[in-house]
Amino acid sequence: MTDDPRRLTEATKHREGRYGGFSFGGQAPDGVVVHKPLPAGTVFPNGARAALLLTFDVEGNYGNGAGDIRVELANYRRICERLADNGVPATFNIVGQMAEEHGPEFVEWMLAAGCEIASHGYVHDMNKRHGGDRVYAGHYGRREIEAQIRDGVAALNAIRAGAVRGIRLPYGHFNEYAYAAMAALGLRWASNVGIDDFIVPGQGFGPAPFQMQLGDTRYPLVEIPLDSQTYDWSVWMAGERQNREFVEAVRAYCDARCIAFERTPTGAVGVWYRRMLDAVENETVFTLLCHPTNLAVRSVKWGDPVEEFLFPVIDRLGALHRGREAWVCTCAQMAELYWAEFASEYRL
Ligand SMILES: [Zn+2]
Repeated sequence: MTDDPRRLTEATKHREGRYGGFSFGGQAPDGVVVHKPLPAGTVFPNGARAALLLTFDVEGNYGNGAGDIRVELANYRRICERLADNGVPATFNIVGQMAEEHGPEFVEWMLAAGCEIASHGYVHDMNKRHGGDRVYAGHYGRREIEAQIRDGVAALNAIRAGAVRGIRLPYGHFNEYAYAAMAALGLRWASNVGIDDFIVPGQGFGPAPFQMQLGDTRYPLVEIPLDSQTYDWSVWMAGERQNREFVEAVRAYCDARCIAFERTPTGAVGVWYRRMLDAVENETVFTLLCHPTNLAVRSVKWGDPVEEFLFPVIDRLGALHRGREAWVCTCAQMAELYWAEFASEYRL
């Protein structure tokens, strides 16, 4: 496994605007105020007191993914079948340009499986549209960010009108222009900030969805924090040298939970299952993140990551959902539940 050509957290903070930045790898964004987190012990629609969200960032080689995009695209058919067989939905955050250039079939499989399609920006790396070396949304101003978000949503709504209800920005990197643009489009949720941080303990935003506020401005968007520590890339792909903080975060989690630290897709199953059980035991929400490009990476260290990692994960989610130990839902379902919880307050 080679180290990545550049560090993932270089030039981390927003370069435009007053607020934002990264929320992973030991980094924290500026100005985030957690408003009205969903209360612990909330009873979810299937009777469970925990909720689990499986989210995918669908980006092929449009970001820094090293997988074979043809393998990734073909994998979506069997991933969707496995989800449907288990009766659980997932949220697929899709790069708009990838949907335009390689869709719509793989997107239609997701919809047919009862899954949510959401945006992962129009281009993954902003410099691919604007030139230069500024990759992250938070490094751009209102005009560029509006185009990134508007065109990303439109590329997916062109496949199914009105389908897109939310967005995860590439790298979860943002500033206030991003949230203003999402709100102006009528999106209901965003998912950019991290749940916890094993590099800087106590730095995360917790697992509960909340209403996003930056500085004094509150946005009509439910923020759904995600696992920015033990997601797929950091377990088996991140370079030990350039992106050591990500590897160390996984190691710290494994040490804390007495799990073998094994940097393979099979090793990741143990980490993810422990994350799921932690959420069940703590009666909280937990949002998992997988990049399917990393399921299409060949290595002598593993076989097929779909079989070795993702299918066992989906099967465990299905069992927890059927056993009413957890509600496995999409981000849109969680956002609607959140607004309903506080409906009287907001007079919706
Ligand atoms: Zn991405």
